[in-house]
Amino acid sequence: MSPRHRPKALLVMQDRVFPEQFGPAELERLRTLADLGPDPTPVSELDSPAARARLADAEVLITSWGCPRLDRDRLAAAPHLQAVFHCAGTVRSLVSDELWARGIRVTTAAEENAEPVAQFTFAAIVFAGKKAPFLAQAARSHREDWAYKHRSRAQLGNVDRTIGLIGFSRIGARVAQRLLSLQVQTLVYDPFVDADRIAAAGARRVELEELLTSSDVVSVHAPQLPSTHHMLAAPQLALMRDGATLINTSRGSLVDTTALEAECASGRLDAILDVTDPEPLPAGSILYDLPNVMITPHIAGSLGAETRMMSRRALTELALYTEGLPAEEEVTSEAMGVMA
Ligand code: NAD
Repeated sequence: MSPRHRPKALLVMQDRVFPEQFGPAELERLRTLADLGPDPTPVSELDSPAARARLADAEVLITSWGCPRLDRDRLAAAPHLQAVFHCAGTVRSLVSDELWARGIRVTTAAEENAEPVAQFTFAAIVFAGKKAPFLAQAARSHREDWAYKHRSRAQLGNVDRTIGLIGFSRIGARVAQRLLSLQVQTLVYDPFVDADRIAAAGARRVELEELLTSSDVVSVHAPQLPSTHHMLAAPQLALMRDGATLINTSRGSLVDTTALEAECASGRLDAILDVTDPEPLPAGSILYDLPNVMITPHIAGSLGAETRMMSRRALTELALYTEGLPAEEEVTSEAMGVMA
């Protein structure tokens, strides 16, 4: 490959995603780095004759939310494809065995997406320490009687608390870093990360049982895998301290919703949920109505201009490719066994 190789590129993403993720600066950089051909508009599917004609020429794909799986049939229609630069987090929905077998380079913007989730989680932990979302709910019924806050005041605050992080993932590690600014003890459960790395982040590696029994706030950051399905079911939730808060910004399926409903309905546990199972929850779910549950509609990850940070990551990876250099955030089939 020559140093200033300019590959033919095709953008594959949902229509609504493209203008959000590619502003004038990102488009200009893309045009400098790659040949978008006579029709630079993105495609949102890869099966129509028009999309297939463009896929046939493409050497690289710039993908984002809505890119269909690059399966055997679609790959057969992409004989020149060498690289996929993903402008979002997980590539799980687009990769396939055939893609790995072809040795196609795949990169992710999960590091960039981790940042807003870590910010959101840190805010949620601080709010959980003061039970802010739940006291805010109660304010609606207490109006001028703010003395209700004194009833639980002794248990409020963010000093000398224990925060448990499940998964020392990109996000989990960033949250641990931010927790250094609080006077708290941080415990981490991640069977795939050694204790020294966790200790270097000012936290202590523990088993899941110790984390659950010791933490005032438990925040979930493990990926959705067969091995993590319902990793927090009734027996695990039962280990959590009375009055503890569960924060889930990872994936809903890691928590057994029915078991969580029971623990929150009894008032024993509180919850801050950015993700649920199913997602969204059915209209009749009790979790919508409980005063000790805060639900946000999967907003912790990149939104609005935050998503451009992910496009810039993909463009950096494209630039490295055009210079014949290794990727910085490459995804491998082996890594997919433990990553989001
Ligand atoms: P990542 O790929 O960096 O996570 C991998 C980590 O999880 C590794 O450290 C691995 O050792 C650990 N892990 C694997 N199995 C585990 C287990 N059984 N118990 C504990 N740890 C385990 O993940 P990430 O990019 O930081 O994402 C973390 C989670 O956040 C994922 O579930 C992801 O889907 C989710 N996410 C949510 C949003 C949102 O908008 N709410 C946005 C981005 C990511």
